[in-house]
Amino acid sequence: MSRTTHTCPGCDREDLVQAVPAVYLAGRNAVTSRERDSDGDMRTVTRTVSTGLSDALAPVPEPPTYAISCLGLLAVAVSVGTFLGGALGGKWFADEPGSEAAGSEPSGVPDYWQGIPAVQPPEPPPSYAFLGWISALALLAAVLVFAVVARRRSAFARITRRRHHAEELWARGWYCHRCGTVHFEGVPGEDRTPLTLQRFREKVWEHGGYGDLAGQQRAVNRAR
Ligand SMILES: [Zn+2]
Repeated sequence: MSRTTHTCPGCDREDLVQAVPAVYLAGRNAVTSRERDSDGDMRTVTRTVSTGLSDALAPVPEPPTYAISCLGLLAVAVSVGTFLGGALGGKWFADEPGSEAAGSEPSGVPDYWQGIPAVQPPEPPPSYAFLGWISALALLAAVLVFAVVARRRSAFARITRRRHHAEELWARGWYCHRCGTVHFEGVPGEDRTPLTLQRFREKVWEHGGYGDLAGQQRAVNRAR
């Protein structure tokens, strides 16, 4: 029995055996790049790029997708945009020009000062009320989206609150790059049977109390 080497129970060799946390971290890189943002300014963007193997060895499930957050931001942008468009185009906050009866008080600012040539015949102003409705609905959608995101985040935190148990077991896993299997070393109650990535995930996640998620998020090694 050797304590210094970790032979793979599948191929009986140790040259391609690596601790699971090392494999996991080696497959995750922070990639920094210069990108142009929506305003046309250059900015430095850092994002994590991970390999399929690293993803398959993750000790915790994927957090809830934040793509829906982008939807919420989009709704906010639509709400602000339509509100500004309606407020400027429909002059919601300008003095009402004496339309029918109340012609007694002069509104102060002649129309041609607001960019409309005085020689043009007066046209009926287009209704901008629909922009107000779109703005209000988009705002409502944004509020709903952010409520959903907040609820998902708290649910995820509750489900994974015992993740340190899972990580303790996870840290004792050894991955063989030749066999593509993981085995445990020195874990009471676990033998050294080579495990598939999915079986390893199930054992680790069950230890953390979220084993049912291992069936939904399967450890598919997309790098192969
Ligand atoms: Zn092996």
